[in-house]
Amino acid sequence: MVNAVNISDCQRWVIKIGSALLTNGGQGLAVEAIDAWVEQIAALRQGGREVLLVSSGAVAEGLTRLGWTRRPHALHKLQAAAAIGQMGLVQAYESRFQKYGLHTAQVLLTHEDLADRQRYLNARSTLNTLLDLGVIPIVNENDTVATEEIRLGDNDTLAALVANLVEADLLVLLTDQQGLLDADPRSNPDARLIPEALAGDIALEKMALGSGGALGRGGMLTKVRAAARAARSGTMTLIASGNEHNILQRLAADEKLGTRLMPASGAVAARKQWLAGQLRVRGRLTLDDGAVNVLRSAGSSLLPVGVTRVEGEFDRGDLVVCLDPAGEEVARGLVNYNAAESKQIIGQPSSRIEELLGYIDEMELIHRDNLVLCR
Ligand code: GLU
Repeated sequence: MVNAVNISDCQRWVIKIGSALLTNGGQGLAVEAIDAWVEQIAALRQGGREVLLVSSGAVAEGLTRLGWTRRPHALHKLQAAAAIGQMGLVQAYESRFQKYGLHTAQVLLTHEDLADRQRYLNARSTLNTLLDLGVIPIVNENDTVATEEIRLGDNDTLAALVANLVEADLLVLLTDQQGLLDADPRSNPDARLIPEALAGDIALEKMALGSGGALGRGGMLTKVRAAARAARSGTMTLIASGNEHNILQRLAADEKLGTRLMPASGAVAARKQWLAGQLRVRGRLTLDDGAVNVLRSAGSSLLPVGVTRVEGEFDRGDLVVCLDPAGEEVARGLVNYNAAESKQIIGQPSSRIEELLGYIDEMELIHRDNLVLCR
């Protein structure tokens, strides 16, 4: 993926909208606001963009459905409210998107899901498939088993992890401020908006603390950190005000709004290094000369047909090394099939995977996004 600079060039968007922009002060869903978000997102889709929406609002809707006028303190009650309200949240989106001929899909995730390699690959394939099908995934934290967002308002981090997962071009974090300011506007009337900066710059964290957002749930600090995380997959982050009229369309038309946090060039490679550096090698695949050549010259994925030997006990999502016929390491990557399955499909065209295993996860043994070449 090329690091896009103009927002109009960004094809794949992850948009995070927090409770403040979707609910009536934490009580019930703000239906007109949701109408407007859906209209804007449908227009982005119809303009050919792929959109994943990370949306809160489940707790607020749950409180209303239960007739609770005050937000309870007990975590288990908040979790129950989220489970009830999530129904209303997805109903609200699905019925509205249907008016534009679009379907939605409910995706509930936790941070741990994305730290586990196997689940990471599963979530990645599902989300990519949903996008290929033209569906809008509606992602929220799985509040039944995780409580980060309930406690910290941290769907910003989840949105960044989703951006990494699908290698989004753009992460839009909508908030109630214009963007990142260089000082706290409450104490400093000269506070100015930072239009653009490098994601991950330490100076930004200081400004985020100063801009008055740190104490709020999902404040500016989590946004700045989320941008640094998103940059690992070469994703640009835009922090902008969700109260601006028609904000998404205006951003898509390259109107200068909010703060852009740019990934450093080479961020994609950095992510691959991170992937490979994190994990223990679980197995070895020996490739034929043809496979070694296409891997090296074309940066392709590794297909089962080019593999001659499988060693080790590994699972889907584990790290394996790829060796040339002389036993020299050529590459390493996250494998899509476990050792027993890999043994059954090596040397075979991918069109036979389903017949050989009874199902198919992926056409590739290792997808090129999850493959790092050795120099
Ligand atoms: N994920 C939850 C939601 O969608 C948490 C937000 C909150 O704590 O209000 O509502």
